[in-house]
Amino acid sequence: MPFSPPNDTAATPQRSWTVGMRRGAAGRCPNCGTGRVFDGYLAVRTSCASCGHALNEYRADDAPPYFTIFIVGHVIVGAMLILDRFVLLPLWAQAALWVPLTIVLTLALMRPVKGAVLGVMWANDTRS
Ligand SMILES: [Zn+2]
Repeated sequence: MPFSPPNDTAATPQRSWTVGMRRGAAGRCPNCGTGRVFDGYLAVRTSCASCGHALNEYRADDAPPYFTIFIVGHVIVGAMLILDRFVLLPLWAQAALWVPLTIVLTLALMRPVKGAVLGVMWANDTRS
């Protein structure tokens, strides 16, 4: 009897991580691109209202905060160094500028970063 390898990979369509990241960062279901991923600010929906894909099986855990801190830290510290090279601001002005900017940037990036992480998890079929 000849050996025939399992044909699992042919049955599962290849998922693109760039498509998943783009859809997730836009707050859309990585599987279909039309349904919404989030129910609120950061809570992930149980399933997609459009295609029924189980979204709550992807557990991003600490990855979104980690990547958000990484991005915000590089942007803010880079901007601080560039500004410091041209303008000498007093300490109170530095605090008044950088602290709110850091908070706003963090809150603005957290959701798209979490969506992008979920998109990569969808592409790799990393379910809990
Ligand atoms: Zn969907």
